[in-house]
Amino acid sequence: MNIHEYQAKQIFRDYGVTVPEGVAAFDVDEAVAGAEELGGSLWVVKAQIHAGGRGKAGGVKLAKSIDEVREHADDILGKTLVTHQTGPDGQLVRRLYVEQGVDIDRELYLGLVIDRATDGVVLMASTEGGVEIETVAEETPEKILKVAIDPLTGLADFQARQIAFGLGLEGKSVFRAVKFMKALYQAFVDTDASTAEINPLVVTTDGELIALDAKMNFDANALYRHPSIEELRDEGEEDPAELEAKEHGLSYVNLDGNIGCMVNGAGLAMGTMDIIKHYGGEPANFLDVGGGADAQTVTEAFKLITADERVKVIFVNIFGGIMRCDVIAEGVVAAVKEVGLEVPLVVRLAGTNVDEGKKILEESTLDIVSADSMADGARKAIDLLEG
Ligand code: ADP
Ligand code: MG
Repeated sequence: MNIHEYQAKQIFRDYGVTVPEGVAAFDVDEAVAGAEELGGSLWVVKAQIHAGGRGKAGGVKLAKSIDEVREHADDILGKTLVTHQTGPDGQLVRRLYVEQGVDIDRELYLGLVIDRATDGVVLMASTEGGVEIETVAEETPEKILKVAIDPLTGLADFQARQIAFGLGLEGKSVFRAVKFMKALYQAFVDTDASTAEINPLVVTTDGELIALDAKMNFDANALYRHPSIEELRDEGEEDPAELEAKEHGLSYVNLDGNIGCMVNGAGLAMGTMDIIKHYGGEPANFLDVGGGADAQTVTEAFKLITADERVKVIFVNIFGGIMRCDVIAEGVVAAVKEVGLEVPLVVRLAGTNVDEGKKILEESTLDIVSADSMADGARKAIDLLEG
C-alpha cells in the first residue's frame, strides 16, 4: 500500500529522520494558513499524489511570499498531473503539502528496498539525487551504492559509514548520515515497509541532511498489525475498478489490452495472460475469482469486465477443482442474463463436472463460443477480435 509524501514524512519525523516542517492542506485557504503558521520567507507548495516526478510536471513550486503560496496552491490543486509514474491519464491533485523551503547544497538519493537476490533489505544510495533513479541504474549503474543488511544485526554503523563516504560526505555530515540511515532503517522495519525512498536527500549549506521527498510503500499482508498505517489509505488514489473488485473478494488488476479475462486461481490467471500474449493478443485485465467462487462472485466479475470499455471480447478460463464446472456454468449464464453481453464470449471449462458444465452453456441459448483448451480459447478470442 502506498501513502502520500506528507504521511511518510510524519513517520520519518516519529523515528528521528530529519524532514522540513510542513502542513498538509485540502484547500487553498488551508495552504495559506499553513504557510503563515510555518513562517519564514521561503515555502514549497507540493501536490500530494501517489506518484513521483511531480516537480517536472509542475506539481512542486517554490514560493517567496504568502501571495505566491496562494497562487501556486490555486494552480496545483485540482490539476491533473501526468508524470512518468501516473500513466497517460494522470492523477488529479486533491491534497497539497506546504513545506519550508530548504537551502540545497547537494541532492543525493537514498532508498531501502526488499531485495530478492539477497533475501533481505538493501540500502541503496547515489550521488545522483533529484533525478529518475531508474535512469541512473540503467545508464550508470556504478553510481549506485548498495549494502545488504543482516536482519539479525540490522544496519551496522560501518555499513552506514561506507555509504556516507561513498556519497562524498565529510566531517559532521558523516556522523549525521549514520544516524539518519539507522533511523530510516528502524522506521522501515517497524512498519513492515516494502520500500522507503528519499529522492532527493539533500545536504544543506550548513551540512545538515534532510529528506526533501519521501515515498513509503507497505506490505499489504502485514497491514493488519499496523491499523494506524491502514488508516492512511487514500482510496482517491486507487483504481476504482480495483477497489470495487476488492470489496467482492476478487483479485483484479486493470491492464491495457482488449481481451477481458475471468479465471479461477492466480496461477491460471497468469497462464491465461501468457497464452493470450503468446498468440498475439493483449489481456485487458488480470482477474482471479478465487477457488470458492459462486454465481454471485461470477456475476460481480462479469460486471467489472463489461464495465471496461476497452474490452472487445471476454475469455472465461475455468478449471473445476474444488469449484465444479456446472456451478461456474450456471454462474456464467446467470451473470450474462443479468449484466447483458455486448461482446463475444469464449468459455473454456475443464475439470470436475465439465460435461455437465458444457451442457448448461449449450442449452442456455446464449451466444457462447466453447473452447476445448486454453490455447484453443485464446486463439478463438483473438480471432473474434479480428473478425
Ligand atoms: P518529485 O520527486 O515528485 O518531483 P520532490 O519532492 O522530489 O518531488 O520535489 C522535486 C524537487 O523540488 C526536488 O528535487 C527539490 O529540488 C525541490 N524541492 C522539493 N521540496 C523542497 C523544499 N522543501 N525546499 C526546497 N526545494 C524543494
Ligand atoms: Mg522526488
